[in-house]
Amino acid sequence: MTEVVNPFEMAQKQFDHVADMLDLDEEVRAYLRYPKKEFHVRIPVRMDNGELKIFDGFRVQHNDALGPNKGGLRFNQHETFDTVRALSMWMTWKCAVANIPLGGGKGGVVVDPTTLSVHEKERLLRNYCRLLWKDFGPRTDIPAPDMGTNAQMMCWFMDEYSQLSGQYTPGVVTGKPVGAGGSLGRNQATGFGVVVCIREAMKKLNLASKGMTASIQGFGNVAQFTAINFIEKLQGIVKCVSCWDRIDKTSYTFYKADGIDPHFLMEITDQYGMIDKKQASEKGYEVLSGDAWLSMDVDVLVPAALEGQITKDNVDKISSQVKIIAEAANGPTTTDADEIIKQKGYFIIPDFLCNAGGVTCSYFESVQNDANFYWSEEEVNGKLDEKMSVAFNSVYEMAKERKVYMRDAAYMVSIQRVVTAMKLRGWV
Ligand code: GLU
Repeated sequence: MTEVVNPFEMAQKQFDHVADMLDLDEEVRAYLRYPKKEFHVRIPVRMDNGELKIFDGFRVQHNDALGPNKGGLRFNQHETFDTVRALSMWMTWKCAVANIPLGGGKGGVVVDPTTLSVHEKERLLRNYCRLLWKDFGPRTDIPAPDMGTNAQMMCWFMDEYSQLSGQYTPGVVTGKPVGAGGSLGRNQATGFGVVVCIREAMKKLNLASKGMTASIQGFGNVAQFTAINFIEKLQGIVKCVSCWDRIDKTSYTFYKADGIDPHFLMEITDQYGMIDKKQASEKGYEVLSGDAWLSMDVDVLVPAALEGQITKDNVDKISSQVKIIAEAANGPTTTDADEIIKQKGYFIIPDFLCNAGGVTCSYFESVQNDANFYWSEEEVNGKLDEKMSVAFNSVYEMAKERKVYMRDAAYMVSIQRVVTAMKLRGWV
């Protein structure tokens, strides 16, 4: 039977498992198993054809012991309250593992963004902000781009919030365009951080420093910059990427034995990450089935698409040649599949560590907004490399010291930091 995955149950299971290992007391568990605040709004939008449509929107603030709630805003037709709850909880652990002074939050609107015009997107975004603006703020909760949203949309959010509050407030949101309070390097930051983690893992596992091969699921922002950095920074070869074709309603893998060219593929990819099959085949790319990325004989496997992609039904397809699984997406591996990966002894870089580069750069963006002083791209990347290397190594050391799986070690580092702040603040 196909595994049914509720991401929030999965997030709670992962937490419970490590709470047991840490012998966490009941009060702390009760606090952390659920988000602290949740909002459900119904967002009215006047569509271009004059019709009024109402969209469901969520914002979940899981925990703000370490600092203001922080996390992306998704436009996704399959969004559920539970998905947003799970993602907000993972943001708490993500900020903690990166050791940045921020808590966990996440937002989502149930909408297929590909069906909206630019003006409809703007109205939806601004109306979402109007309904919730009192619960957002640079010291309260700071959204960022995520699936289905982008820098332009963050700029509308910043503008709407600034108009409502009567004060220019760039720090209310991150991932803004450069030129409107954004940070250099933010657009590529998640993929950059994924590759820093892979580089650090390669050192620990004594793998060759050049010529490593990778297979990537997805071709959105994270996958694109993971591919570019893997090739340019590590002199690696990316054998394939994949994408969801919303016209065929099928996914495809784009394969090239001697390595894909991400810059070329980006030229033939639309804003929603859909690659043009015709142009790719003309350039010699083999167009394979959507799950072909998972069974490639490569050194590094990078799920960089959605949650719940590696399940107990397909986990056995992973090649024994794979040495590192770098979870660039949030929650790509189900709990059952994770157990099998652990038993088979693959080295995993768990999601909230692996993809923490985005929020770490978001933190740099808010620091620059607060200071009203902007850094060079070199400075941003240097600081990001350092933060991500330290985060990876703190988890690796914990795994070694406690002889535990990397995911459990990442949870241990994060939970301990959050619980320490909660205790110091007198919450528990
Ligand atoms: N949406 C990204 C994530 O899931 C970035 C969040 C942020 O920058 O706040 O990590």
